[in-house]
Amino acid sequence: MTFPRPIEIIGGGLAGLSLGLALRRAGVTVTIFEAGHYPRHRVCGEFITGLSAATITTLGLAPYFSDALHHREVAWFIGADATTKPTRIQRLPSSALGLSRHALDHRLATAFTAAGGVLLANTRFPETATASVPGRVFTTGRRRSRSLWLGLKIHARDVTLTRDLELHLGDHAYVGLARVEDGSVNVCGLFRRRALCAKGANLLLGYLQAAGLTSLAARLATSELAADSFCAVAAVSFDGRVIAPPPGRMCLGDTCALIPPFTGNGMAMAFQSAETALPPLLAYARGTAAWSDTCEVISRALRRRFRLRLASAAAVHPFLFSPPRQRVLSALNRVRLVPLAPLYAALH
Ligand SMILES: Cc1cc2nc3c(=O)[nH]c(=O)nc-3n(C[C@H](O)[C@H](O)[C@H](O)COP(=O)(O)OP(=O)(O)OC[C@H]3O[C@@H](n4cnc5c(N)ncnc54)[C@H](O)[C@@H]3O)c2cc1C
Repeated sequence: MTFPRPIEIIGGGLAGLSLGLALRRAGVTVTIFEAGHYPRHRVCGEFITGLSAATITTLGLAPYFSDALHHREVAWFIGADATTKPTRIQRLPSSALGLSRHALDHRLATAFTAAGGVLLANTRFPETATASVPGRVFTTGRRRSRSLWLGLKIHARDVTLTRDLELHLGDHAYVGLARVEDGSVNVCGLFRRRALCAKGANLLLGYLQAAGLTSLAARLATSELAADSFCAVAAVSFDGRVIAPPPGRMCLGDTCALIPPFTGNGMAMAFQSAETALPPLLAYARGTAAWSDTCEVISRALRRRFRLRLASAAAVHPFLFSPPRQRVLSALNRVRLVPLAPLYAALH
């Protein structure tokens, strides 16, 4: 089959790379513009829930997950006073995958170029290029906005975990700890921004203390923290909806639908948006569909696929942050009224 129309992807994260790889393998000419380089650490909990075997197969991703860890149990620590004993253990209905972004993004980038794709790393596409151009797909990650939130991540060694994932809820903060493929523990949190004067690992420890997660901070302070894995991201905000881009503009991954990190579903959604876009984009590249129709079809399909999930996550999110709401959550949990299984289903 021939594909006379090329595709240009702006942003080489998970949505852009997985889409580029699948299109390239089908025979489409693809160029990816990526502002950063590979491999690199990213702010991410590296805990992937809700990624089905079907999506992995459609996008041909199985080889890149071969050494991913399989996680089944989550230990919830609700409130800063929950020190060493988890408040609740949740068994996931299917395994979550533990794999570092350092490895995953690099593997996908290497596979994309090996398949004949053109990857322009260290090339930031002008942010002002907002015009809708046929064949151009935006996968530039979270939309920049003024926000109170800050994401921080580091890898730690010599940390013993209670369960596969520990989720600690503090004062306007939550932090996940989960192991990745090389045995390190990913420590990643979302925090309300505070005026703290520290850098790197000390900044993360300072945020844990300020959030009242002092025993966690003490545990991590005695572990081996990998300074080169530390990263931070500001301007993180979640509006609970799938965006409707202007006509003729195509957005996938976080750019179209940003879910709060506690769900561990953002990476799966990036892949799922690539999966959703693949057949209409192939029709466009083949020359059998107009660009405007392709954008419209994909936009509608993404809204159908993600709408409920985003709304559910936006409703739950405030309960994880504010201490008074955490106390409500804790009280409900004591009488077994937190319906984790139905919530998981709505959030994935
Ligand atoms: C604190 C935190 C913790 C998280 N934890 C988890 C988790 O445990 N599990 C999970 O599934 N998800 C998690 N997520 C979400 C997950 O990281 C994202 O949903 C996922 O990375 C989205 O993939 P993407 O391809 O859409 O965007 P990204 O992976 O962000 O990729 C976007 C790419 O576009 C590039 N780019 C941006 N602008 C330009 C430009 N102008 N020109 C060229 N390139 C550009 C960027 O450099 C980047 O590489 C977390 C997010 C945060 C903030």
